[in-house]
Amino acid sequence: MTQETGGFAALDLHPSIVAAVLATGYEEPSAIQQQSIPIILAGHDMIGQAQTGTGKTAAFALPILNRIDPSKREPQALILAPTRELALQVATAFETYAKQMPGVTVVAVYGGAPMGPQLKAIRNGAQIVVATPGRLCDHLRRDEKVLATVNHLVLDEADEMLKLGFMDDLEVIFKAMPESRQTVLFSATLPASIRAIAERHLREPKHVKIQSKTQTVTAIEQAHLMVHADQKVSAVLRLLEVEEFDALIAFVRTKQATLDLASALEAKGYKAAALNGDIAQNQRERVIDSLKDGRLDIVVATDVAARGLDVPRITHVFNVDMPYDPESYVHRIGRTGRAGREGRALLLVTPRERRMLQVIERVTGQKVAEVRLPNAQAVLDARIKKLTNSLAPLVAEAESTHGDLLDRLTADIGCSPRALAAALLRKATNGQALTLEAVEKEQPLVPTYTPRERTGGDRPERGERERRAPMPLAEGRARCRTALGARDGIAAKNLLGAILNEGGLAREAIGRIQVRDSFSLVELPEEGLERLLAKLKDTRVAGKQLKLRRYRED
Ligand code: AMP
Repeated sequence: MTQETGGFAALDLHPSIVAAVLATGYEEPSAIQQQSIPIILAGHDMIGQAQTGTGKTAAFALPILNRIDPSKREPQALILAPTRELALQVATAFETYAKQMPGVTVVAVYGGAPMGPQLKAIRNGAQIVVATPGRLCDHLRRDEKVLATVNHLVLDEADEMLKLGFMDDLEVIFKAMPESRQTVLFSATLPASIRAIAERHLREPKHVKIQSKTQTVTAIEQAHLMVHADQKVSAVLRLLEVEEFDALIAFVRTKQATLDLASALEAKGYKAAALNGDIAQNQRERVIDSLKDGRLDIVVATDVAARGLDVPRITHVFNVDMPYDPESYVHRIGRTGRAGREGRALLLVTPRERRMLQVIERVTGQKVAEVRLPNAQAVLDARIKKLTNSLAPLVAEAESTHGDLLDRLTADIGCSPRALAAALLRKATNGQALTLEAVEKEQPLVPTYTPRERTGGDRPERGERERRAPMPLAEGRARCRTALGARDGIAAKNLLGAILNEGGLAREAIGRIQVRDSFSLVELPEEGLERLLAKLKDTRVAGKQLKLRRYRED
């Protein structure tokens, strides 16, 4: 739809960048992108106040890509990120947006991986370097000229970098770069320490802040659920089992996500359809009409595609992907609770997006309560309730219309009415799991997160070496022990790497890792722990058997 693509096309970005962005399925720039891109393109220094979830990565990545010269094979832009996880994410984002710019290469520089290949990639002419400050300083110690050609610097999550103690490293890095460079700083908060950095190292920076007006949302019951990104679809499927909805709209960020979720829902028997900017106007109207009259119950939409959608039947809004800002949150959830009816809004929050949740709570002036995923018992109860509700109205009449048939069938088959009723139920429920055991088997529990829990993904390389007092275990986590410790040459990152690779876990699924001299403790998800430990049975770290076991503190 030209109207949506116009958003990115109007930003003066190189057509190959716009094409790559549209190919990823973004339909229009987010607020932080709208405001930052022109400023960075114009070469200004900038302070952007934005948190994860606002689209801040593309807000700097797109204009920075626009400003580099692909024909020059030397580092031209440096992005500093507090953690290895974020550095990798940012590097991947750059690669995605540079897909149609031949000759542009990106290197991620972080601790826990060998330095040689990183340095080689830089020397081979990677134009974009995404680094954690600690490891970059290690490189600078080997070669103080690595950053000599870098003209664009981005500090991503600057407040986090300072919290992790990277202040001194940042100073070393600033010194190693040309003074004439462009510097862009993104930070969720602007404490005095960040303002001091800006004062010293930025030149007449422009400020970008997404102004959030207080918004009121009444009559809508709001809740959030902490979940990992890769578990969203199964979380949605499980929530739908217990939510009593009439019609529902699920919001996601990309066209692809609308298609993926809609087909996952259809596969489970829901009457669902996708609504995105690629869908022609007449088709869009058909989808909305179907939602209105009940031929569809769920629409999975992007913000753009859902614009102007007003269907009084909508009782639920699922924010499967985080909205970019509180305003669009309020907008989204306003699709329900129409005409004085009650509505319910659910927000899925990944560990990195916690802050965005706080911003939403602040702006709306309301607490968004945390809910847990319903357990197997709740799913079973909900299924039985649905079955009861569907059968109860038939009972009175059915006996007169089908009672004789029942008598005949029991006689013909030679079974009791109970046995026949059971057979009919099995047929009617079409193989659906209707015992606790069967439900448990069918839907492995998805581990969720509590807000206070520290995630492995946010841990700094250095912090891993620190000895901290043992912390209480977060809910859903189990502590495991290995007899390998520092004296075996083990560091937290070795354990992390081994468990990630062999266990196939998401990085955030691993909690604190404490390496002591003669043993180490690792926090792992309680759900599926036995399976995971079995998977890791033969894993070796630093040439020795890991032999991870559940650790009981008492
Ligand atoms: P960030 O705030 O940079 O961490 O981005 C959060 C998520 O939003 C990432 O998964 C991005 O791929 C996605 N995203 C960023 N900009 C857009 C956009 N304009 N349209 C759709 N998704 C976006």
